[in-house]
Amino acid sequence: MDIQVEGSNNRVAGRDYYENQIKPCPKCEQRVIDRDKNICNHCTQQEREQFAHGAMLLLGICVLFVFSWLHDWRISRGLQPGLEGFSESIVLSVMIVGVTAGMLWFFVPIIWEVAKACIQARRR
Ligand SMILES: [Zn+2]
Repeated sequence: MDIQVEGSNNRVAGRDYYENQIKPCPKCEQRVIDRDKNICNHCTQQEREQFAHGAMLLLGICVLFVFSWLHDWRISRGLQPGLEGFSESIVLSVMIVGVTAGMLWFFVPIIWEVAKACIQARRR
């Protein structure tokens, strides 16, 4: 190695700092991550779980809404509102919400891609 007394071409502390490829996770500040990552795997997992919990809660609320609507519809039609009709309404509402959520899950990314393509095409 050729060390020059003037200081050019020498490694300095500032450069060594940037060569360090890890940094603390800005969210939990307990784990280190690669410089090109935003948060650590642990925090990514946590965010994913929170999202799943939120989605489940939302689906549950949707099922309740559809269920009460179905139940009212059943009563207004004069159909049996007994235990059988009750469980039928529950199964139906879960199915309706499940299918709707599945379709949204499938179509929203496609619509998003199409919308992005449209915006980009308009910019040109
Ligand atoms: Zn973290």
